[in-house]
Amino acid sequence: MSKNYIKSLTFKELEEYCKEAGFPKFRAEQIFRQIYFSGANSFDDMKLITQDIKTKLKEDFEYNSFTETKKFISIDKSVKFLFTLQDGNKIEAVYMPWFSDDDEDKMERTTLCVSSQIGCALDCKFCATGTMDLKRNLETHEIVSQVLEVEKEIGEKITNIVYMGMGEPMLNYKNVVNSIKILSDLKFPKIARKKITVSTSGVIPKIYKLADLEKPVKLALSLHATTNGVRDKIVPLNQKSNISELMDAIEFYYRKTNLPITYEYIPFENLNDTDDDAKRLAKISKRVPSRINLIPFNDISFTKPEGIAAELKATSKEEIQRFYTQIRNYGGVVTVRDTFGSDIDAACGQLALSDKES
Ligand code: SAH
Ligand code: SF4
Repeated sequence: MSKNYIKSLTFKELEEYCKEAGFPKFRAEQIFRQIYFSGANSFDDMKLITQDIKTKLKEDFEYNSFTETKKFISIDKSVKFLFTLQDGNKIEAVYMPWFSDDDEDKMERTTLCVSSQIGCALDCKFCATGTMDLKRNLETHEIVSQVLEVEKEIGEKITNIVYMGMGEPMLNYKNVVNSIKILSDLKFPKIARKKITVSTSGVIPKIYKLADLEKPVKLALSLHATTNGVRDKIVPLNQKSNISELMDAIEFYYRKTNLPITYEYIPFENLNDTDDDAKRLAKISKRVPSRINLIPFNDISFTKPEGIAAELKATSKEEIQRFYTQIRNYGGVVTVRDTFGSDIDAACGQLALSDKES
């Protein structure tokens, strides 16, 4: 049987392991700290841990999830990472530094957009990842390692995580939740729960389930349409339910967690950007405290789209501004997303493993 990876263990599981292995209780905390706070690169690299414990850990666990890390640096200072997994598959993560408006050398926060699956089964028409089939779910350690590896490469702490890379996090529920439990452990949090956002295209049963997390994370819903007719076309998952059922789940999530919801919405010309859409969108968003994030459509022509995907056209900058104002006038709280990394195919929806050197 192949060995488990130590970075797949929650703190509680590590404690149980240490108990069974006969290690003193405080060792679990030491090991956890070495991995997540001191950036140990291997079992041998761990400080304070005795040789016999290291030997036992090496017998029982693997340490590193990736065999190779490649970086692509954008002119806007975001960085796309391409990681090669132990089985040869590749995944991407995107690092985004946010600088202060008053002092552009001052970094205010660092966000990492992590992948949860290799490819995606959901086939949203505007998304490059959707054009790949689902190859497999990522293991917990492969999600957690994206954060650790980027911190090591960049030399900065990650302050915020968004599950907005490749894949649908709610369809890899168990491993995604375990990765949250590890990175934001209740006793030893590396990253605060409120600084973690899970983005979903609307997997309703899992929205209800995620609301039960002892300490909740933020939820973003990729809405992208205000009528079922349009949503069915561009987010095929919608055909299995409808916007009204989805909004019931969102309301439940808010009531349970008290955390405002983010709605992601890509305006497409002549499809979902009319005054009526603005009105409906504002109405939907006012059901619980929330923010609408308008995302400019990033080109995915490199995936050679067909059918409706080939017809999608970005709403122009000026028209997005018009749509934004209409939503505001109808009482919606709305922002336009800064797009990072489009020159390196790292922007939203462009993650399809284009391994071109830039
Ligand atoms: N599967 C999850 C998370 C990954 S997608 C989800 O769908 O929410 C992350 C975000 O990028 C989603 O809001 C998605 O709708 C958006 N996105 C996908 N393709 C895009 C594109 N070509 N341009 C802009 N945003 C895109
Ligand atoms: Fe999958 Fe999200 Fe892309 Fe849809 S937008 S295909 S759910 S990754």
